Amino acid sequence: MHHRELVMTYLHVLMASWRDMYPSVYVFSVGSLIPFVIAERLWPIDTPPRFRDYGFNVVLSLSTAYLSLPLGILAALWSEQLRHAVGWNPISITFDDLGALAGVGPALELVAMIFVPLFIHDLWFYWSHRLEHRWGPLWALHRIHHSDECMNASTWARDHFLQAAWRSFFSIFTLGMIVDLDLTQAGKAALYSNLFLTALSMFYHSAIRVRIPWLDAIVVTPQVHRIHHGADPAYHNKNFADALPLFDIVFGTYHRPRRGEFPATGLGEGFPAPRSPWSAQWSPIAAATRKLWRP
Ligand SMILES: [Zn+2]
Ligand SMILES: [Zn+2]
Repeated sequence: MHHRELVMTYLHVLMASWRDMYPSVYVFSVGSLIPFVIAERLWPIDTPPRFRDYGFNVVLSLSTAYLSLPLGILAALWSEQLRHAVGWNPISITFDDLGALAGVGPALELVAMIFVPLFIHDLWFYWSHRLEHRWGPLWALHRIHHSDECMNASTWARDHFLQAAWRSFFSIFTLGMIVDLDLTQAGKAALYSNLFLTALSMFYHSAIRVRIPWLDAIVVTPQVHRIHHGADPAYHNKNFADALPLFDIVFGTYHRPRRGEFPATGLGEGFPAPRSPWSAQWSPIAAATRKLWRP
């Protein structure tokens, strides 16, 4: 494709995607929180989150959704270009063979559609997340997520837009090279696994006092992730996985929650939570730039 044409395609896709976000992103980001807000009142860990705790995260996550989209589309477009340039044929995965099995087929197909992309996603997520906790410029962005002193269901999307972009860039770009993203089935699988992951992430960020020991090593639970957010340095660099604790267990960063272990969250006095979603988006850019110049 010609340069000019490519820019036009990019702008066209970007404008259409921005337009498509309205109103679903608003309905979704508020509507899906409602059951968790109720549960956080019925079975709170501490004092239940205040409405402004939710409000801050919702506004920040909406601005992140809009601001990170241009970079996400760029990643998809770029991986497609690179694929063509090197003449690489991506693997087309099919879940049909599973679905055709007698009896358990359809259920197995759905489980595979959720867990195969989740496994690939989590492998990338685990290492990019570990790097964010290690390398100054990335930590300057990621600590916005950790600065929530009253972690709750809406914390799941409390991310700086550059962090959201870098994480999706990583998975869109690499997945775009390996798997053919245009397949309807791949799209469906991405949708199912994404829905599952979003619901799971809202659940494990929630301030519900719930203990599910048998599940702690299978998928991330509220107690497992609360340890990752723990303000006490004893909890730092533990439980990095987004969905599957398997990666923490294999790579030696797993902290199994004990009975009654619901630590306080946040970054302590050294980094108080930003006062407005605006400063949460702009101050980390300055901090990350400073760290890049003077590591
Ligand atoms: Zn983290
Ligand atoms: Zn978190």
